Amino acid sequence: MQSDFLKVDKLTKKFGEFTAVNNVSFSVSKGEAFALLGESGCGKTTLLRCLAGLETPDSGSIKVAESTFFQDKSLIPVNQRNIGLVFQDYAVFPHKSVTENITFGVRDKSAKSVKLEEMMKLFHLEDQEGKMPDQLSGGQLQRVAIARTLAASPSLILMDEPFSNLDKKLGIQLRNELKEIFKEQNLASILVTHDQQEALAYADKVAVMKSGEILQCGTPEELYLLPESIEVAEFLGNCQFIEGQADGEFIETALGRTKLSRSVKGNVKALVRPENISVIVDETGEYKVNKSTFLGSSKELTVSDGKREIKCIIPSYQQCAINSRVALQVKSAIVAF
Ligand code: ATP
Repeated sequence: MQSDFLKVDKLTKKFGEFTAVNNVSFSVSKGEAFALLGESGCGKTTLLRCLAGLETPDSGSIKVAESTFFQDKSLIPVNQRNIGLVFQDYAVFPHKSVTENITFGVRDKSAKSVKLEEMMKLFHLEDQEGKMPDQLSGGQLQRVAIARTLAASPSLILMDEPFSNLDKKLGIQLRNELKEIFKEQNLASILVTHDQQEALAYADKVAVMKSGEILQCGTPEELYLLPESIEVAEFLGNCQFIEGQADGEFIETALGRTKLSRSVKGNVKALVRPENISVIVDETGEYKVNKSTFLGSSKELTVSDGKREIKCIIPSYQQCAINSRVALQVKSAIVAF
């Protein structure tokens, strides 16, 4: 991977007195899948629009390869950035056929038919060639929109919630396909989403945003297993905190002595995700199963020792009846705050 293909440095965008993007820095390599993840209103779309050239930042810089898109008020206009944009509503021309849509942005006329064939194949649109947009499903329309974007040979792809209008299964399928296609083409892409699962599954690197700032940027594993703050841990879901005493290497909690994956000392809160607890049916166990919810591939149990309730996720084939006594064990090292 070419490091730092896109480099965003201390970027700030204000709307009047309101700071929508605040001093944000990150970089994306060629071929890297990057996600901007955050709740509604955290500034992710504004940041994406600054990268695309649809908003003018107030300060900071945006560089792509050898070009400076923005710095010190000097700006490369949107039409000279060679960026592919994908939005949640399928941006296709309604009065142009699938073929005309896909080849619309191909500048080299002699390359049109080769590009068309390549895109039809990549996006599984071979049977749709002569159709008009109103004859396509939502999933097919989004495929045409993305094929059109890719046919214009962009250097960077920016996507704003591109799967949110598709049903869940179709969205996951397209997400997985796009990840592979962009990797094959060694294209850098940025996905804006509020969906944690989507960001973790799509991206090589994720930036978690809140109130215009990046709270943490890292691989999905780093963010989920080694969150730097309670906010990031909670945002990625499946969170529960148990009080404990830490000595820098281990922590003592109601679940016993567990290795710390990051050194911390004193009275702290341990992050023990429900799937990181083994549940062993044991008549002498300290905990009793109060509730069991069947989720298909797993079961969520709520167990209690009379003082606190703890949630655990176990495989659905594991037998564990309500009211049975169980012992709990933390499976792997944890972080504490
Ligand atoms: P969502 O997921 O809901 O689209 P987001 O994280 O993408 O949210 P933005 O659309 O970037 O958030 O908006 C960030 C903040 O900036 C919001 O408080 C929004 O109201 C504000 N904002 C966005 N565009 C403008 C504008 N043109 N003028 C004034 N305020 C704006």
